[in-house]
Order: sequence, then C-alpha cells, then structure tokens
Amino acid sequence: MKKTLATFVLLLCSIAANAASTIKIIFPMTPAAQAAIRGLGSDAVLQSWTESRAAELTSAFQNSGIALAAESVGWVPIDTNYSITSSDIILAMNDVQICLERDARGADIVVVITNAGGAAGAVIESSIGTSNPAEALAMVEYVPAQSNLSVAHEVGHLLGSRHQWAVDSSMTPQYYGHGYLSNETNPNGEAGHAVTSCFHTILAYSQPCSNGETSYRIANFSNPSVVYHYLGANLWFAPFATGKRASPHFADEASFMGAAGALMANFRNTKIAGIPLAKLIPATQFMLD
Ligand SMILES: [Zn+2]
Repeated sequence: MKKTLATFVLLLCSIAANAASTIKIIFPMTPAAQAAIRGLGSDAVLQSWTESRAAELTSAFQNSGIALAAESVGWVPIDTNYSITSSDIILAMNDVQICLERDARGADIVVVITNAGGAAGAVIESSIGTSNPAEALAMVEYVPAQSNLSVAHEVGHLLGSRHQWAVDSSMTPQYYGHGYLSNETNPNGEAGHAVTSCFHTILAYSQPCSNGETSYRIANFSNPSVVYHYLGANLWFAPFATGKRASPHFADEASFMGAAGALMANFRNTKIAGIPLAKLIPATQFMLD
C-alpha cells in the first residue's frame, strides 16, 4: 500500500515537472518609448507589441526544449525617461509607479522599455539567476527588442545565464550557463544570411566566424541536445560528446532554465494590494548588457 502511494506521488511530481510554467511580464514604457512604438497608432499597438515580445520568448523556450512560457500582462506608462545605466535600473526597481502596477497585475518580472540606449538592454549583476523577486527587472531599448530578441536576452540573464565563454568566463551561478557561438560554417547557406556565416544563440554576442563573416542570432537558448537545422545541414549547438559535459567551455542553458523559470513564475502568484517596500540595492552594482 505504501509503495503504491509513493508511486502515485512520484507520478504526480513528474507530471508537475513537465508542465510548462508561465512567466508573467509587465512592460513599463518610458514616454519616449511609447511615442516611438505607437507612432500614429493607438494604445492597442503598445499592447500587441508586448504580446509579440512574450510570444518570441515562448518560441525560444520551445525551440530549446525548455518547459517554460512567457505572457505579457500588459504595458504601463511611466513618467521617467530612464536610460540604460546601472543607476537607472536601480531607480526603476524602486519606482513606486512600476512596483504598484507590477503587484496589481501579478507580474512575476519587469521589463522596462526605453528608447534611450547606450546598450541594447541590461540587468544588474546581482540579478543574474536571481531568486529575489525585487531584483527581477531588466531594461531594454525598443529597437533591438523588436529586431534582435533583446527581451529574451535580458530575461535569460535573470534566469541565470551569461554571454558566450569568449566574452564572459564567469562560472556563476552555473559554469554551463552561457550562450553559445557556433564555429561551424554552413556550406549550403541559409535564406537571409551570408552564405556561410555561423550563428550565435540568444545570450551570445555577435562574433567573427572562422571565415571572417559575422555570426547571426538564432531564436534558441543553448542546448547541446538540440540540433539546429541549417538548410541541408544539421549542426549542433555545442560539443556533443558526453565527456564534454565537464569542459569549462560547455554551454547548456536548457539544463537549468526550466527549474529557474518555474521559481520565477511564482514570484507573484497573487496580486498584492498596497505600496510595496522599496528594494535597497547598493549603487555600486555593475551592469551586464
Ligand atoms: Zn547580455
């Protein structure tokens, strides 16, 4: 009897582990970003813009074999024209307008949209792989957000990932928590890209390929078990041999993002009434773009 019960509980746990958790995102928009995105359109344009960013992130999770989804709980107008600096990110974390709306809508994380760059987007260092809801905030410039998956890139940082090893050799919070730059070139070419250029995943920066061309971003997180299909060729994200798992240059975001995202998806299970406590963060925090 006990054994049957244990089996039943185990089965329930495995079902729960396989279900996709949904990360709810609120998109505060600076006045300048609202104007730039809306153009001559109505506020409905802003809502559908945020839904497109969430859909791109959901697709990236699916492409990468990660049981997560993203949902926009909407955009919200803010008064301050933040730019992408560590001090402005910390100010946004303490912005009462943002905190109140986030809690009222039950958003797990915050992605502030600006049109004042300096960087495509950024989070502060301590929020990488954060288990602290108060730090779950990224800031993204609207152009790369809609053209280069920059929202997915910054959410990837919040989930615990870093850039490719060539530009960031940090081993925390996971040594394999890096984007991947493919060194393979594709002799068959691919529509929309240079004939033999190599690719990089969402968390990697563009880099020169071995043939001198420049890599392009694909809508995937790193997962050595997933094959990326060029036209007519199958290429892997990372060294495929089992022994490479211990290599210091391994990239396998899929191995931890699902669990990190399941925690994140519970940052705001319920809507919270009242004024939240401001998050006190040292102003010496570095920014990771
Ligand atoms: Zn980055």
